[in-house]
Amino acid sequence: MNRRDILKGLTILPLTGGIVGKAAASIGGKAPALPVKPERDLFKELGVTPVINASVTMTFLSGSLMLPEVLEAINSTSHDFANMYELQDKVGAKIAEMLHVEAAMVTSGAACAILLSTAAAITGTDPEKIKLLPNLPGPRPEVIMQKTHRYLFDQAVTTTGAKIIEVEGADEMEKAINDRTVMALFFNAAEKSSIQHADFVAVAKKHNIPTLLDAAADVPPVENLFKYQKIGFDLVTFSGGKMIRGPQSAGLLFGRKDLITAARANHSPNEAPIGRPMKVNKEEMFGMYAALKAYLERDHKKEWEDWLQRAKHIGSQLETVQSVKTETLVDPGPANAFPSLKVTWDPEKIKIKPEDVVKALKGGTPSIVAGGRKDHLLVGVVLLRPDQVDIVAGRVKSILQQAT
Ligand SMILES: *Cc1c(COP(=O)(O)O)cnc(C)c1O
Repeated sequence: MNRRDILKGLTILPLTGGIVGKAAASIGGKAPALPVKPERDLFKELGVTPVINASVTMTFLSGSLMLPEVLEAINSTSHDFANMYELQDKVGAKIAEMLHVEAAMVTSGAACAILLSTAAAITGTDPEKIKLLPNLPGPRPEVIMQKTHRYLFDQAVTTTGAKIIEVEGADEMEKAINDRTVMALFFNAAEKSSIQHADFVAVAKKHNIPTLLDAAADVPPVENLFKYQKIGFDLVTFSGGKMIRGPQSAGLLFGRKDLITAARANHSPNEAPIGRPMKVNKEEMFGMYAALKAYLERDHKKEWEDWLQRAKHIGSQLETVQSVKTETLVDPGPANAFPSLKVTWDPEKIKIKPEDVVKALKGGTPSIVAGGRKDHLLVGVVLLRPDQVDIVAGRVKSILQQAT
């Protein structure tokens, strides 16, 4: 597989709405229409290596590929100015309606949503406090988290000046609440919880403490977009640039109206607040709306079937190599809860370690990112464009074959 072949692959792209489609890539999205040759190949111009993602959505690998609908929204709205307050009002209202909550906003990703939620919980709409953050006088505001929920992204909490108070179990949570407590944060994909969702919400509600749930990577299933507000979380966030396939630098924050109003007061287009450096542009707001709408309207069952088919298809090609066995694994989630292909082989017959297969895939052309475990290779299928399924199968097969 050489560079020309990749470029050839890239020319079979969905064309929606004329000017879009050049850079668009369909992952089981709309059927490709007319092939479009890119007029200008910026990857080539800058010498940037295009990567095939046979793994899961990762920020360092540019998240996911935007849906054709999103690119269409970005392009078609780029020709006029808009008042950003009005745009956030209108997009937020529509998203809120779609997700059955009081209010919503587009943030620059879930990490921004965590920061804005914390800021909102600290300042409300008080302009003095908003201006002072993160340097409010007095004791630091406190955010409660379960000890087992601490994670890298909670730096977005402390960036506001707040301090994280770790608790274990509902009793400890209740005892930790005091007049400095501003919020309680639940990391949805944490491996262990000593307080389950409903109890967490109940304790917080009893003391009038707002709750935020971080479910950044937790679709599919699509139902998760509705589940946590029903449990009673005041705010919920999802990344826009993961499986919802919106702009990578967009995200959703939704829930209670007063908190969303306060979060917006801490955000761009206002000039001084803590969230000003986390601006979302006009096109990405439209794009996030279009992504969510397309995601909700998608035939999720069909998409799932398509993923299983891909895994089966790649598996059957790999099993033609002696001793190779494959199995479709579905990650139990809640993050990345979708199928991928587990590949194992007899190390006596195929003399290469899974990690070295990963290295060979990455170093080849096209560069392919797959998952390596100690005793198996994990080939992701959900982020492949239709034309990349055979490319990935072929490359893995040839690397394994060469090691026989
Ligand atoms: C990806 C992720 C984030 C950050 O989301 P962005 O949209 O990239 O800002 C936060 N929390 C969790 C659990 C994530 O998986």
